[in-house]
Amino acid sequence: MAIERTFSMIKPDATKRNLTGAITKMMEEAGLRVVASKRVWMSRREAEGFYAVHKERPFFGELVDGMTSGPTVVQVLEGENAILKNREIMGATNPAQAAEGTIRKTFALSIGENSVHGSDAPETAAQEIKYWFSDTEIVG
Ligand code: ADP
Ligand code: MG
Repeated sequence: MAIERTFSMIKPDATKRNLTGAITKMMEEAGLRVVASKRVWMSRREAEGFYAVHKERPFFGELVDGMTSGPTVVQVLEGENAILKNREIMGATNPAQAAEGTIRKTFALSIGENSVHGSDAPETAAQEIKYWFSDTEIVG
């Protein structure tokens, strides 16, 4: 297995409930290391750009509303098999279908307000990291 980097977000539904530390702890306990982190309140333009792949989906407006409703903690996580490992500890998109012990099963409110984002493949991880961080902000 290779050491990888993935992009993660602790979404506004979670930061509003003061869950940044609890969620980060679950990532760290899974063997992932936070190598970059900042708290941002994203603009509509930033949220629409980040989620552009979903712009034709019926939930796009709701998604952008949620992501601009409060602070988000954007992070780069590093570790063995980090992309897949983070998706595993996040759990399914719909918390009703997420496995016990996952972040979404534990904390998510609904399919839309599901507390975390994680990249789904190496190409999207690289793109998403670049969207939010410059190289000098990532310190392993
Ligand atoms: P994931 O975040 O698990 O990769 P997707 O990439 O399919 O899921 O969707 C991106 C985000 O859009 C989800 O995390 C969720 O916040 C929102 N979303 C997805 N499907 C729905 C839906 N049916 N209704 C409302 N929001 C949704
Ligand atoms: Mg996705």
